[in-house]
Amino acid sequence: MIPEDYFEDPTVGAYVVLPREVTDEEKAKKEIDKILLAVKNADANCVWVIVSDFDSQGRIFLHLLDRAGSLGLKVVPVLQPYVSIVEHPEVKVVNFDGTTADDPRYLNIGCFNHPLLRQTARKLAEDFVKNYGSHPSLYRIGGLPLVSFVHEAYYRNDVPEFGGGPLKPCCYCEHCVRRFREAMKRKYGSIEAFNARHGTSFKDWNSLERPRDPSNPSLWKEWFDFHAEIIPDYLKEMIEYAKSLQPLLSTHELNDFYPCTYQCVYSGNDIWRMARVIDVGHEDMYPLEFDHRYVIYVYEYIKDLVRSAMGIDKLYTANGQSFYSWMGYRIPPASMFEQIYSCLIHGSLGLVWWVDWNRLELWEQTRQPNREYRALVKELKDYERAEAEVALLYSWTSMELKLNDLYPMDNLLFYTALARCSIPVDVISEQQVEEGVLEKRGYKVLCAIGCPTLPPSVVREIRHFVEEGGTLIQDYGGEPVGEYSQVYPELVLNPVEKHDVYRIESTHPKLSALNGKLVPVGIESLCETLNQEKVDETVALFEDGTPSIAISRRGKGSVIKAATMLGWDYTNYPGYYDFAVMFPFIIKRNENLRELVLRILRMAGVQPLAASSNPAVEVGIWRRKDGKRLLLLAVNHLNEPAKTTVTLAKRGGAIRSLRDFFSGESLDYIENPDGTISFSLSLENFRGRAFIVDLEQ
Ligand SMILES: [Zn+2]
Repeated sequence: MIPEDYFEDPTVGAYVVLPREVTDEEKAKKEIDKILLAVKNADANCVWVIVSDFDSQGRIFLHLLDRAGSLGLKVVPVLQPYVSIVEHPEVKVVNFDGTTADDPRYLNIGCFNHPLLRQTARKLAEDFVKNYGSHPSLYRIGGLPLVSFVHEAYYRNDVPEFGGGPLKPCCYCEHCVRRFREAMKRKYGSIEAFNARHGTSFKDWNSLERPRDPSNPSLWKEWFDFHAEIIPDYLKEMIEYAKSLQPLLSTHELNDFYPCTYQCVYSGNDIWRMARVIDVGHEDMYPLEFDHRYVIYVYEYIKDLVRSAMGIDKLYTANGQSFYSWMGYRIPPASMFEQIYSCLIHGSLGLVWWVDWNRLELWEQTRQPNREYRALVKELKDYERAEAEVALLYSWTSMELKLNDLYPMDNLLFYTALARCSIPVDVISEQQVEEGVLEKRGYKVLCAIGCPTLPPSVVREIRHFVEEGGTLIQDYGGEPVGEYSQVYPELVLNPVEKHDVYRIESTHPKLSALNGKLVPVGIESLCETLNQEKVDETVALFEDGTPSIAISRRGKGSVIKAATMLGWDYTNYPGYYDFAVMFPFIIKRNENLRELVLRILRMAGVQPLAASSNPAVEVGIWRRKDGKRLLLLAVNHLNEPAKTTVTLAKRGGAIRSLRDFFSGESLDYIENPDGTISFSLSLENFRGRAFIVDLEQ
């Protein structure tokens, strides 16, 4: 799926933002020269250049192309249409309450349905293709230049990350109203059919108004599903126009307003919908963003999400952070090793760093990580990443209808437990489930965590998956919303209950070793009462003896139903670096629960090719297509040295040799009675290592 020539020169780049107003051209050129030299010296091979207007930035952009060429560097343009909301207030995003998004502190490019914005986007694409589209310095894959269309496209009406309030529902401008009516007319044909679906009484399409609150759940969901189509449609129009002028490969930053808050529903940020209109995936998640929390598992989560959104085996590139947070917090330099190994374990085969070009000391330290990353990506040309046997369902409809961050956070925190078990996981969307991904990918387990309000069509597909032998893990749901429910709502007797702790108590031989271990209820004592008559077996009990986790068998498969939020029960914090060390009394991680989740997955037949005895050391496997070799990657997520024992599963194949990828040094290993292979491993703080495992064939 990835053109072969990509692996000869994989993307290892850095972002450059061209100044919007070039007042002193010579000074600007000198700055560009300084940056390009620094890129070259750090052994990166390309720059991704954000450009908004070739009329004013064209000369400096051309200088950059020429200078990059003379240094042997390549360029990926990031086309960033910009319409000033001061000069063109008519493009402003309109909120549900009639206010507009007025804050110029962030790059507000207005409503993506506004004709002026669309026209500006087309002009920018045209100016690029006509003037620079054949420049030899452009980064090419399979002969086609790679062009990024828009940096950070999302509806913004506040700045939560800088202390502002949460985002508001938007956009209610005249263009969005018109397009909503057109889209509904296409979808339903008649207003009667629309009214029948949503229990509404609009007289005709012209009187159709969008909801301003979630009181009608299906209408509210309809509106936000439509809203999520706007940015993909905008990107598609811009990309198709550029491609009509010249063949090229498109990408777009699949982020930014975070995947762990319901506010991404308001920002119009559905990564799966956006991924469908581009050729190469790219995401913009830093490990350390606006605040002082160090969130490497969010960094990994978005990678598994984008990989899945792009269709599992397509190329996607990631974002790296080699600058100190603008909130004054410092990223540890060794983290740059952690970032590249996290990228590789989760399938990113390209990397673009953000850099503070005024403080090069951190950037200079990417040199060794860049070298290791490039060498490993080159090796991976003939490999496939070990397939995920576990899927985690993204909380889209629950975010739309619950409007509560407890749910998406639950999803992310549960992901943390999976990552700390080194379990390969695909983060999948409801739409993918509707399209049959569960059967197509042959998952053994689906985790519907923090996803309690599911559309009936998704519920049907998941029930079928269970009937056919799959295992579903679903946790706390609270009150259902309209027709949107859990997969098996009958397993819940009462959606509102309070408990503080539960105890693992199971007769199952794979779980019973944990009997007696306690797990405090993670968040606000939120619990459901499970229906004891509908479950076949209990796994954990509350203080009063009622079940908190139970198994119900359905067809050939089973449902593991939890009455609490399992992600929150495991941890209240996705990252590792500082808080957990500084404030262990605030940050908790319940290892009993992680161990239980791991055992439940094994019980369901999940058997990863590699396992790590230390949860802070994550391992991942790529398998060469001829079946004769594995590449094993390990990364230490701690800012201190760590040791672990790595165990390779029997089904990987009998081992002929095990050696360090870079030094070539052989490692000792032992064969266990069960046929698995184990070896011990030491890693410096935040470092990664890679190993070649040659197999008997
Ligand atoms: Zn609008």
